[in-house]
Amino acid sequence: MRLDYVSIFPDFFAPLTLSLPGKAAEKGLLEVGVHDLRGWTHDRHHTVDDTPYGGGAGMVMKPEPWGDALDALVVPPTTTGQRTTVVFTTPSGEPFDQRLAEELATREHLVFACGRYEGIDQRVIDHARTVAEVREVSLGDYVLNGGEVAALAITEAVVRLLPGFMGNAASLVEESHAESGLLEYPVYTKPPVWRGHEVPAVLRSGDHAKVASWRREQAVRRTAQRRPDLLTPSVLDDGTPIVRATPGDAGELLTLQRACWVQEALANDMLDIPALHESLEDVRAWLGEWDTYVVRRAGRLVAAVRGRVERGEHGDVWDIGRIMVAPDLQGSGLGRILLEHIQAVAPAEVASYVLFTGAASVRNQRMYKKAGFRLRRDLPAPPGAVVLTKNAARHGTDTRRGDL
Ligand code: SAM
Repeated sequence: MRLDYVSIFPDFFAPLTLSLPGKAAEKGLLEVGVHDLRGWTHDRHHTVDDTPYGGGAGMVMKPEPWGDALDALVVPPTTTGQRTTVVFTTPSGEPFDQRLAEELATREHLVFACGRYEGIDQRVIDHARTVAEVREVSLGDYVLNGGEVAALAITEAVVRLLPGFMGNAASLVEESHAESGLLEYPVYTKPPVWRGHEVPAVLRSGDHAKVASWRREQAVRRTAQRRPDLLTPSVLDDGTPIVRATPGDAGELLTLQRACWVQEALANDMLDIPALHESLEDVRAWLGEWDTYVVRRAGRLVAAVRGRVERGEHGDVWDIGRIMVAPDLQGSGLGRILLEHIQAVAPAEVASYVLFTGAASVRNQRMYKKAGFRLRRDLPAPPGAVVLTKNAARHGTDTRRGDL
């Protein structure tokens, strides 16, 4: 790959000789050219800016030096048909992310055009599109003084993806924003205890399956907590999404709840289960207090689950409830999927999950136990019900601290 940088501050690019990009250049993976835009000016003062047409504050970068720079740097399509890609760094560009880094890493030649002042005359970008591929790229929703830092950041993200650049290519697969789309799980190294903080026991267990499952759970949890926008909604096998309930779902939730709780009442031989007697107003009220998720099939609300944080004596507890599946879909695996979903979206600080079910609801209890919940006869439960708990996978020092 060849990288060219055009800037009025070429010294900004000294870091390119350091660290891994420097090594990549030594290995012959990268060719780098840094160019002073003023080298393409023809007046005594090496002028690169002028006042904006239409008035207004600040100066605009003149088109002529940029035109000459592009003439010198953009190369004709290669034998593989690839054109030069000119990256204009600008806060009004497409946001830079890992997907774009992956795309740019497939290019053979990138030219970074680093703006200053109020930016570059628009005609330069329009002209560049006629001779090269153009990407206008923003580092983020803030304004820098110039494009050099953005060009360096983009370079670092792109170059580490080049085949042969990283010593261990596997590290590219597991990190944040990689294929899974999740943030990375917390990482630890020696010593096992540092200033009273312990490395989670599971990471020292040598059980690879357990380590992998712990890491996956941590990654999902961290992403849900810090970047819920990155999480695509959980989907069932047929692509049906599990979505957050809205206040408008109250009526259908009441119907589903009655259908499910009549079954519970019959199975447990008790008609005074509170959920059975809730009104539409009651459902609207709890919808406002619980994180509730629903599944719709062909427009019909067919399943739901809710969770909320309760302050327990030993830490925060994620109270899971109302796992409801329409009678005609029971036994289809929907309940298990909802149970997994509601655990995955629990806030990071919860130490354990808790749920109640009918003492005679054998099928439910079997599903919960399969999912790692333990029956807790030692804990108080409403009449006719039992409590089940499970430790939340967390990255604290003592995973049992918050057990109920
Ligand atoms: N007037 C411009 C605007 O409002 O979009 C901002 C110009 S800025 C002061 C000068 C130069 O810094 C830009 O031309 C661009 O090259 C660079 N720059 C500033 N913020 C950037 C960002 N978020 N991402 C990429 N480049 C940025």
